[in-house]
Amino acid sequence: MYRREIAPRVRLESSLSLCVAALVFGMFAISDYHYTGVSTELYLLLVMRLVVVVSCLVLAFLIGRVGDYNRRIWLHALPLWILATGIILIVPLRPESLPTQVTSLLVAITAFYLLIPNLLPVVAIASLYLSVGFLTTAVSVADISVVVTLRILLLVIMANAVGFFALLRLETLQRKQFALLQDERVQNRQLVEEIAHRKSLEAQLRQVAEQDALTGLDSRRHFMARAEALLRRARLEKAPFSLFMIDVDHFKAINDTWGHRQGDTVLTAIAETCKRSLRPQDVIGRFGGEEFMVALPNTYPKDARAVAERLQQKVSELPVIDAMPDHRLTVTVGIAGVLDEKTDLGVLINQADRALYAGKHGGRNRVVLGHEVKDEV
Ligand code: GH3
Ligand code: MG
Ligand code: MG
Repeated sequence: MYRREIAPRVRLESSLSLCVAALVFGMFAISDYHYTGVSTELYLLLVMRLVVVVSCLVLAFLIGRVGDYNRRIWLHALPLWILATGIILIVPLRPESLPTQVTSLLVAITAFYLLIPNLLPVVAIASLYLSVGFLTTAVSVADISVVVTLRILLLVIMANAVGFFALLRLETLQRKQFALLQDERVQNRQLVEEIAHRKSLEAQLRQVAEQDALTGLDSRRHFMARAEALLRRARLEKAPFSLFMIDVDHFKAINDTWGHRQGDTVLTAIAETCKRSLRPQDVIGRFGGEEFMVALPNTYPKDARAVAERLQQKVSELPVIDAMPDHRLTVTVGIAGVLDEKTDLGVLINQADRALYAGKHGGRNRVVLGHEVKDEV
């Protein structure tokens, strides 16, 4: 997972490091001229440097485009071997500058280890090839003493050891860091899932508290809270406000005749009718068994009467039971309206309740205005 995650970074960094290495390698042509002057060796060196620079730049480009090191590891190894071969080839062509080349060799080994990311085996093998190749060539062409050879060998071993262990440590640390990051990601994901679960539970709880399970209308408590808010606003804006209390007539008979299930279906149908025939800003609640309440903002009681009569008409068109299409469902509606600025929801509910009671006594299937009841009293 770590290798997959850092693959794009490895590609970019390998490609950049190679470009820089190729350019630096090419720039040493100046040093060639300094040591050899215009000579066959200079031309050979220039051709060799050109080949190395061009192939490294081409490979850097390829690594940048398609150098997924999980699949094409050879693409990362190849430029290192080309560079190493170039460095080795300088020895026979410029044997008199061996001390300077030893320094370059050490810099190259360090650069291999430090600049090529997360490819320790590839780098170690290429670096070993460079070290052995350089030493063998130096011994065979530069005529150096045993002491000098041993000194170079020691330096090369040190450079390789330091580079190898530095990169090993760095890679181990990066992997540990990645493991920690993964843990953190997993924990974060669990936390996000937990929060989502809690939110959904909260929403369910809210729904249970605010919604009537049978009809989907507002529960009594939720209706009261919403109606209270609407009334407060109406008082503030000095706008009209009305309240319905709807009670299904002889509902018990429906239950008794066709059973509670049919009664439930009728209640749901009435709730649907209320929802469909009232405005979106009207708040509808199930107040008790077969009683519903509606808060109508910006509505005068006389206009509310027209709304109630329309609702009554719609309910009467509802089929109670398929087997008896002629059976008509009726409701009685009590209406209350805001009297003055002090009227609160309790007063309005009482008023609507009294109007409803009067409607029931008056023979049911009617709409009664609370004011009229008051006048009658
Ligand atoms: P009235 O015309 O005077 O209102 O008579 P009514 O029969 O409608 O009124 P009553 O209060 O006598 O009966 C109401 C019935 O509503 C009694 C109760 O069993 C029934 N009821 C209450 N809640 C539910 C419910 O959720 N489902 C069903 N199916 N029936 C319910
Ligand atoms: Mg009732
Ligand atoms: Mg009833």
